[in-house]
Amino acid sequence: MQVFQRAQDLLLHLTEQKNKGLSIGFVPTMGALHDGHLALAKHCLSETDLTVVSIFVNPTQFNNTDDLDKYPRDTDQDIQLLKESGVQIAFVPSVKEMYPNGAKTEVIDLNGVDNEMEGRQRPGHFAGVATVVKRLFEITVPSRAYFGQKDYQQLLVIKQLVKTLKLPIEIIGHPIERSEKGLALSSRNERLTAAQKEESLVIWQSLKWAKDHQDTYSPEALKAHIYKLFETSTLELEYVEINDAESLKPLQKWEDATHARIFIAALNGKVRLIDNLSLF
Ligand code: AMP
Repeated sequence: MQVFQRAQDLLLHLTEQKNKGLSIGFVPTMGALHDGHLALAKHCLSETDLTVVSIFVNPTQFNNTDDLDKYPRDTDQDIQLLKESGVQIAFVPSVKEMYPNGAKTEVIDLNGVDNEMEGRQRPGHFAGVATVVKRLFEITVPSRAYFGQKDYQQLLVIKQLVKTLKLPIEIIGHPIERSEKGLALSSRNERLTAAQKEESLVIWQSLKWAKDHQDTYSPEALKAHIYKLFETSTLELEYVEINDAESLKPLQKWEDATHARIFIAALNGKVRLIDNLSLF
């Protein structure tokens, strides 16, 4: 596996590979890799000639400095895992390399998909995501890029980014990888004790309860039940939303959407967890 730190070197190398007719697939990550990230890399490896995985903890998408400071980092282990997975190229830039003119966000029209949920709870988050992904796309010139449904709203934001900027990149969504008991894999889980991981299963239980009871209850009634479930849990429910899966607008009635999804954000101590599930 080749490891690049300089944007210019990687762009030059990938342009040469592209000119030889090879297809490039790209998987952006913030490192502290787990089986969710590796599943994305495998998906990419199965569909493209060259898989590029980036590891970059992007400061402009953190609205909370404590979260940024405590974000787990283990680049040596990440590189080892990527090598073992058969990934051909890792891109591990510094902040200066990604933001030579200072870590600022660009204004990119995201057509409102950035307004709901995470956009509301984490002001500036999606502007930071869109800015860094645009720059990463310019450096890695992929024909396909892979994003997890774990960050479902982010996946829609990236689809909109590609549309707004008219980029010739196909955005592929990958299903959520979970622990055996149902906890969505996340780098932030490293900050949870075994007991806290167990407590966090209330998220998955709530999502499943909603899926199993959608024929009996309205979206409002399902959400009310989930607020009750969290009252007896150690987690603090930040939001539960049932939204149209395309526009992300909150659903009043089931008939208002062709596809609906339920979303939860909750705090376990200081660790913020998000998860979601397709209802129909
Ligand atoms: P992150 O390093 O958290 O920014 O995640 C990098 C990519 O991996 C994003 O597209 C995430 O949605 C995706 N990802 C993270 N966790 C999971 C998971 N449990 N299942 C599937 N994809 C995931």
